Amino acid sequence: MIIGLNYSNCLIHRTTFSIRVSSFSVQKRLGPQKRLYYQQLEENIIHVPGENPNAAALRGTNCFIIGTTQERLMIDSGDVPPINALFIENLRKLLLEQKFRLKDVVISHAIANHFGGAWSVIQLHRELGLELPRVHKKLDNNNYERDMFRMSRYLRDHVRHIDSSCKFTVDEQGGGQSVIKPIETPGHRSDHCSYSLTNTSLKQKHLFPGDMILGSPSVSMDDLSLYLDDLRRVEAMDFDKLYLVHTHTHEPEHMVVCAKKKIRAYIEYREQREQLLQETINKKRFTRESLFDMIYEQEDLSDPLRMKLALTSFNSHLNKLLKERKVRLLREGLSEILHIVK
Ligand SMILES: [Zn+2]
Repeated sequence: MIIGLNYSNCLIHRTTFSIRVSSFSVQKRLGPQKRLYYQQLEENIIHVPGENPNAAALRGTNCFIIGTTQERLMIDSGDVPPINALFIENLRKLLLEQKFRLKDVVISHAIANHFGGAWSVIQLHRELGLELPRVHKKLDNNNYERDMFRMSRYLRDHVRHIDSSCKFTVDEQGGGQSVIKPIETPGHRSDHCSYSLTNTSLKQKHLFPGDMILGSPSVSMDDLSLYLDDLRRVEAMDFDKLYLVHTHTHEPEHMVVCAKKKIRAYIEYREQREQLLQETINKKRFTRESLFDMIYEQEDLSDPLRMKLALTSFNSHLNKLLKERKVRLLREGLSEILHIVK
C-alpha cells in the first residue's frame, strides 16, 4: 500500500521509455530525457535501472551490483521479458564496458519484477560468452514461485535454495572483501529475503531490504505480525544505509537512505494505522467493506493495482487485530460486523 503519493512521474517515465511511439506528445512537452544505463553509487555498488515502472514498482526495480573485480553479485534480476528489454540493454552495456560477469544473482522474492528477469540475465551471459551466473533464492514453493518457474521452464535447474545461514563473499580490488548475507523477512511474502552487505575496509554495513521497505511511506504485506517482527529485527541490527529497490526517482539520495530513520518511520506508520483502525471501529460498528471505504476515503484507488495493495494491507491489519482478539466479528446476515473488544 502506498499512501498519498503522486504517481504522475512514474507514469510519464513509463510512457517515454516503454511506449515510445505513442508518447510523442508527452515527450515533446517534457523534452528528451537522458537515458540512465547504470550509475556508480559507491566504490563497490552499481545501480542498474530495471526500466519497469508502474503504480507498485514506482520508477521500476532498482537492481544493485556489488563488487569491483571480474566476478560480482547482483541483488534481484529485474522484470519478465519483454518488459525487461531496456534493463537487459543496460546490463549488457555495463558488463561490456566494465568487463565483468555476474557470478551470483540473489533474489529477494518470487515476484515478476524481482525474479522475472533471472533467465534473461543467464541468457545474456550465454550470448556474451561468459560463464553463467548462479541464481539463489529462498525456495518455499509458494504460488508466486510456482508461477515464475512455469513461465520460465529451464530456470528451476539454475536456482539454488538459500536461507539466513548462507553467505556470499565478493572479492574487491585491493584485497578487501564484501560479505552479503540473506536475512529472512517473511512478513511481506513467505519467501522474502532482505540482504545485508558488510565490508570492513570500506566501513559498510548496509541493508538491501527488498520489498520490505520502499521509497514510499509504506508497502503492502501478507502477514502484519511477521512484517513488524521483520522491521524490528532489522532495526536492532543497526544498519547504516538502506538501498531501496523501488523509488520515485533514480536520484542517489532517494535510493540510498539512512537506515535508522527509514526503518523507524516504517514501524511508526504501521503502529499509527493500527491505532486508527481501532479508534475507528471503537466509534461505531462497521462491516469490513464500510470500514475499508472509511479508512481509504481520501485515497485515489482508481488504479486496480493500488486497490489490490490497499486491500492486502487492510486485511493484514484487520487479521492481526482479530488474531490478537482486540477486535471481534459479529455476524449479521451475510456481512461481517466488526466490533472492538473492551
Ligand atoms: Zn517489488
